[in-house]
Amino acid sequence: MSQTHAHGRSSGKPKLALYWAASCGGCEIAVLAIDEKILTVAEHFDVVFWPCAVDGKVRDIEKMADGEIRLCLFNGGIRTSEQEYMARLLRRKSQVLVAFGSCAQEGCIPGLANLSNREEIFRTVYRDTLSTDNPQGIYPQPETAVPEGKLHLPIFYDTLKTLGQTVEVDYYLPGCPPEAENIWEALVAVLEGRLPERGSVIGKNTTVCDECPRIREEKKIKRFKRIWEVIPDQEHCLLEQGIICCGIATRAGCGAKCPQVNSPCIGCHGPNEGVEDFGGRLLSALASMIDSNDPNEIERIIREGIPDPVGTLYRFNLASSLLRRSRRAATDGNGQKGAAASKLGAVS
Ligand code: SF4
Repeated sequence: MSQTHAHGRSSGKPKLALYWAASCGGCEIAVLAIDEKILTVAEHFDVVFWPCAVDGKVRDIEKMADGEIRLCLFNGGIRTSEQEYMARLLRRKSQVLVAFGSCAQEGCIPGLANLSNREEIFRTVYRDTLSTDNPQGIYPQPETAVPEGKLHLPIFYDTLKTLGQTVEVDYYLPGCPPEAENIWEALVAVLEGRLPERGSVIGKNTTVCDECPRIREEKKIKRFKRIWEVIPDQEHCLLEQGIICCGIATRAGCGAKCPQVNSPCIGCHGPNEGVEDFGGRLLSALASMIDSNDPNEIERIIREGIPDPVGTLYRFNLASSLLRRSRRAATDGNGQKGAAASKLGAVS
C-alpha cells in the first residue's frame, strides 16, 4: 500500500488513516476481514497512517494541513495522554472522523476499568498480582531520570473516556468489532459521498431481535438462567427461555449472528437508536418480563439471576453510560477505598 505523504509525493487519492488507542486490536483485524476488498481500498485511498499494518510516523501527520485526511477510522478509548494527543491530532487533520468499533464509541471492555481508579489499577497490576515481583513498589512514572537523560511515558488517566467524550466525532461504526460488511459499506459511502447526517451511527436503527429468526411467543419467566446451566432450545427466543439475551436493547447490523448459534447477544453493537443508557433500557426490559407482582420476589429473581449487574448490563458501555464510572472516593492512607467507592455514581 502506498504511503505517499510519508515519501513526500501525492497520488491525488483521498487519504485514509487508521489508529488504535485503548482497545484489544480486534477492530484492526476486522478491517482485514474485508478480504480481497482491501486491495480495492488501497486502489482508491492513499493509506497515510496505520501503525498496526504499515510504516508511518506521527510527525508525518503533524506536518499535514488540517483536514488533509479524508477519513480516519479511530478505534479504542482514551486512557492515556498519548491517546488523547492522537485523538486531537487526527481530529484536526481529518475531514471525517469515525469512532470505529465499540471501544471508541462506548468504551467497551477497557471501560469496565472505570470501576476502579488509577491507584487501584496500578496497585493490582504492579504490586498485588501473584506473578508480580516488585519489592520496591515502583509504578510507571510519566518522567524518569536516567544517566542518559529523561525517559517519558504517557500519563495514565484515572478514567477512560470514549472518543466522543474527547473530541467531536462525525460518525460511529458500532461492533466489537464492526462486521466486515459494515466496514466495507462505510468505506464505499465515504468514497461515494453518501454519508448519513453527521453525528449519527452508520448502520441500522432496529434491534438485534428484529434480525433474529428465533420464534417469539410470550416473554414471562420465573428465573434467569446462566448460559452454562442449560442447553438452549435452538428455535425459540433465548430470553423467553430465561437466558439473558441483550438483543432487545442492542442495535441491529450484526445479522443476529450470536443467537443464531445458540449464544445470547451480549450487546456489543451498543444501544439502539434513541436509547440513552443501554443498561437502564435492558434492565427495564428484563424486569418487565418477570412473572410476578411481588416486589420481594422480583428483587430475588434479579439478584440471583444477575450476580454481576455491571458486567451484564454495562459490559460494553459503562464509560458512555449515564453512570460512566464508579464514584471516586477518598482513600484512607493505606490506599483502601471508602464505602462510597463501591457504589456507582455519576462522575463530575
Ligand atoms: Fe433473538 Fe435474543 Fe431477541 Fe430473543 S432476545 S429474539 S434470542 S435476539
